[in-house]
Amino acid sequence: MNYKDYIALVPDWPKEGIQFKDITPLMDHGPAFKSAVDDIVAYAKDKDIDVIVGPEARGFIVGCPVAYALGIGFAPVRKEGKLPREVIRVEYGLEYGKDILTMHKDAIKPGQRVLIVDDLLATGGTMDASIRLVEQLGGVVAGLAFLVELTYLDGRSKLKGYDVLTLMEY
Ligand code: AMP
Repeated sequence: MNYKDYIALVPDWPKEGIQFKDITPLMDHGPAFKSAVDDIVAYAKDKDIDVIVGPEARGFIVGCPVAYALGIGFAPVRKEGKLPREVIRVEYGLEYGKDILTMHKDAIKPGQRVLIVDDLLATGGTMDASIRLVEQLGGVVAGLAFLVELTYLDGRSKLKGYDVLTLMEY
């Protein structure tokens, strides 16, 4: 399946000079969405994964059906102030300034094998922060999966040493 047929390229959104890769047509199309989720599930199968982790919000959309298909749990990574119980937090750099991502302290047990899933790899900042959260909790990051990779931003350089799956590249 050519997944790129289901990505809408939106010029100058959310600001001038950015071409937004909109995955909603893929989500909208049952067979394409199922096939993309199945590809990530197949990637996860031989990795003995215990839990799927995904950053808000599109990491939930892609990660939850993968967790469901594998019959394992899903743990959310969220912006500060969203999770109701005790959290751990990491700061990460944005284009302008900083942001904070959090996970519940008991979301992962030490030694659990984790696959982190998100819609898109751009600079890699979000995934790098998610990896740091999982590892602070003692999780083992066994793989990283994305629908889309923007190779021109070289996010992979932040993810050296980790196993990465991407379903399409721009
Ligand atoms: P980054 O931390 O730079 O790798 O950016 C990751 C997050 O920002 C991804 O989870 C995407 O949801 C979003 N993102 C960044 N750039 C784009 C883009 N050009 N199109 C769609 N989403 C993007």
